Amino acid sequence: MAEGAVHFAYAERGDYATWGALFATTTFFSLFPDLDTASVPQRWFFRCVFALLLYLGWNEEYDLATLVAILSLLPLLDHHRGWTHWKVSPLIVSVLLGAAYEYWRARHAFLGDFSWENVQGLIRGHVVYLLACIVGWYTHLVLDGRFRIFPTEREHH
Ligand SMILES: [Zn+2]
Repeated sequence: MAEGAVHFAYAERGDYATWGALFATTTFFSLFPDLDTASVPQRWFFRCVFALLLYLGWNEEYDLATLVAILSLLPLLDHHRGWTHWKVSPLIVSVLLGAAYEYWRARHAFLGDFSWENVQGLIRGHVVYLLACIVGWYTHLVLDGRFRIFPTEREHH
């Protein structure tokens, strides 16, 4: 938590790159659950992913590029409003993301084996990003009427 707080304080001091990354993360995950439908947001989402992958590849951030590529394809594996619209998915996926990233890192670095301690460390160090992911995703679920805060058309059927 301390590292996350430091990171957050860092962001508050006007680090625009961090704010930009946080904003991008929130937007990414608020659009993420509906990527299985052909739509204008979907097209723009994949244009942004394309640009992001080019950028990451150029900067040799291959781990992050792999993560983004795999993530972007996930919603296409299920039918519309499938697992991406479960209420627990944002929480499960954010933990799995940390675990997958640590798994790759451990394999690449040959520094030792996979450890959940490192996953916890990773999550603590990136807690603001995980929060951005969870907030963005739940924003989508709320707007979609998954929590029935707003009445939706579907309730009339
Ligand atoms: Zn949706």
